[in-house]
Amino acid sequence: MGAPRIVIVGAGFGGISAAIELRRHGFDDITILEKAAGLGGTWFYNSYPGAACDVPSHLYSFSYEQRRDWSRLCSPQAEILRYLRDVADERGITDLIRFSQPVSECAFDPESGRWTVRTEPGAAYEADALILATGQLSRPSVPALPGLEDFAGHSFHSARWDHDYDLTGRRVAVVGTGASAVQFVPEVARVAARLSVFQRTGNWFLPRRNRVYSRLVRSAIRYVPGLQRLRRTFLFEYCESLTLAIRHPRTIGRVAALRSAAFMRRQLPDPELRRRAWPDYTFGCKRILFSSHYLPTLGRPNVDLVTEPIAEVTPAGLRTADGREHPVDCIIWGTGFKATEFVAPMVVRGGAGETLEDVWRDGAHAHLGMSVPGFPSMFLMYGPNTNTSGGSIIFYLEAQAAYIRQALEHLRAGGHRVLDIRPDVEAASDRELQARFAGTAWTGCDSWYRDRHGRIVANWPGYMREYLERTRTFAASDYVFT
Ligand code: NAP
Repeated sequence: MGAPRIVIVGAGFGGISAAIELRRHGFDDITILEKAAGLGGTWFYNSYPGAACDVPSHLYSFSYEQRRDWSRLCSPQAEILRYLRDVADERGITDLIRFSQPVSECAFDPESGRWTVRTEPGAAYEADALILATGQLSRPSVPALPGLEDFAGHSFHSARWDHDYDLTGRRVAVVGTGASAVQFVPEVARVAARLSVFQRTGNWFLPRRNRVYSRLVRSAIRYVPGLQRLRRTFLFEYCESLTLAIRHPRTIGRVAALRSAAFMRRQLPDPELRRRAWPDYTFGCKRILFSSHYLPTLGRPNVDLVTEPIAEVTPAGLRTADGREHPVDCIIWGTGFKATEFVAPMVVRGGAGETLEDVWRDGAHAHLGMSVPGFPSMFLMYGPNTNTSGGSIIFYLEAQAAYIRQALEHLRAGGHRVLDIRPDVEAASDRELQARFAGTAWTGCDSWYRDRHGRIVANWPGYMREYLERTRTFAASDYVFT
């Protein structure tokens, strides 16, 4: 093969990191198709008040594009988006992106050994290699509650925040208490007349004050040699220690849960509110929430924590199972994403005509989260079992980008047309991966990491350093080259 033509779907951190890596190694024929009008993926769409990353920026950034001028430990959405835009501009990636091009179908033709990628507006792109970087958290999920369509007030999902709707003085319902909600609930509580927070499950919390860095800290990070690197290393090890706690719920996990519980008790002085907000599952099974502002917000006089299940949506608001109606002007759905459906609603058709949806009928799986047998020269980024509960997803994306680049180098160097993961290799790595969940906190509850069969399809079962180790060197013998 000469210079392969590469199509990347998605211009978030995943697609951009793949494009950077490939360009750095001489792959120049790259097109990135993006459904949104701007780049950034999750950071483009999630602009709710208080949106920030709860992974510190020195780690939640590319290893080769470190910054010494982050405004605080965990940067706000606008700062992260600006960072990604700057990196994409400086590295010549922005020009490769075709915006407002939602992809509807990708189909592999075994005759030509090429992919055809079609977009909703009707364009078609041919590719020798296809990289699907649509992420796990791109499709908002709103629960199919009875009466949903009858609500007469205003409503929106946290990932599609309606900035034109002024919440000041309104009666607001927030449904859901995950990582997104705990960031925007304190902001909404500040302006709303009344805020009812509908919680299905209480969560485990750890502190995050996230104040703007003092001038002294900023100067130290900027000017003290090695401090930036030390900070990144420390944060990396801290994140690995969270995974350690999740992997060992009966030992280290207990200690971490005690720390969380002590913090939560301080944050929730009212015993009744504390009882209702308390989690009933193993520490680390769902995402640990980092906030020093959310729990105290629940104690505000204008805020109600509602723990009765929601029975239905009425024209006036929400009715809970105890028959009580909660009239509101606006419902904000903080109910997460259709994470386990991965590339849907795109139809991705492999060599034998079957779709990824068919192949993943019993749960998504892919070798190292990237390669699926029967889908030649196709790679996923942030695919099945590559989410992290304790680390930085950017770290995983960089590892994936380097692995994919090596795969394409092999293809190019060997003069082959396509490569396909061996089904036995993929099945064995999936078995091994799933077995590693045994005894971990992840198995201790239901969460968005599981699909409808209960299989954990979102998360990597180990540490960041293990994933890097597994992906560092592309094993050509795992693939069939044609
Ligand atoms: P999420 O974690 O999936 O939370 C959804 C919330 O909605 C949960 O509290 C869930 O309750 C609740 N819910 C879902 N369906 C419901 C229903 N029918 N009735 C009542 N409650 C319902 O979604 P998210 O908060 O948007 O976060 C998703 C992921 O995005 C996070 O886990 C994280 O990986 C990422 N994220 C990261 C950051 C960051 O700073 N790094 C920030 C935001 C999001 P149950 O717990 O009972 O299911």
